[in-house]
Amino acid sequence: GAAVDAAGLTAWVTEFARLVHEQRDELTRLDAAIGDADHGANLDRGMTAVVAALEGGPADDAAAVLKTVATTLIKTVGGASGPLYGTFFLRAAGALDGGDASAFAAAVRAGLDGVAARGKAEPGDKTMLDALTPACDALDAALAEGRDLPDALRAAAEAAAGGRDATVPLVARKGRASYLGERSAGHADPGATSAALLVQAAATALAG
Ligand code: ADP
Ligand code: MG
Ligand code: MG
Repeated sequence: GAAVDAAGLTAWVTEFARLVHEQRDELTRLDAAIGDADHGANLDRGMTAVVAALEGGPADDAAAVLKTVATTLIKTVGGASGPLYGTFFLRAAGALDGGDASAFAAAVRAGLDGVAARGKAEPGDKTMLDALTPACDALDAALAEGRDLPDALRAAAEAAAGGRDATVPLVARKGRASYLGERSAGHADPGATSAALLVQAAATALAG
């Protein structure tokens, strides 16, 4: 099966960086509609720095990889998404205990809980939580059914994409988009869209 070790986690965040770079203009377009048009640039800057940091000083400890991601994002991403993604990876690093599928699921669940606490948001508020929450739920459910990690991550990626799409009709209750009130409806949330890329990257990189 897929190893959730330092190399596997590095492959995950490297694939996330690649997807963010590829989708940078789309993320910016979404943020132009309901925010300040910087989400693509913010995350691309941050994840480019993450890849450089991991190449510069490769960590042999899995939790250290996640911690490097966290500190780099907090340092380099301006805007709401930097501290929130930073919190996700910092909490995941702190919770990671082991290298199997259930250790990975527990780590990302801790990351999700950290984002919710830090941002004081809940599912339905039109944020990254709307992709991350169904993804964690699908991951846990698939593993509980006895499916292997690659299969469970595919289910999680589908759930994340569904959660992203479900943000379109929502009125934002957190972040800049909430300033628009009802006018935030009719567009996908940029952070939910990047969070779906994060889960997609896990499905691709930890495919076994
Ligand atoms: P900023 O809004 O500061 O320009 P970004 O554009 O990089 O930052 O990120 C915006 C995204 O951050 C939103 O689309 C949303 O998903 C997420 N976000 C904003 N506030 C919160 C919050 N309180 N909790 C969770 N996610 C949030
Ligand atoms: Mg923005
Ligand atoms: Mg901004």
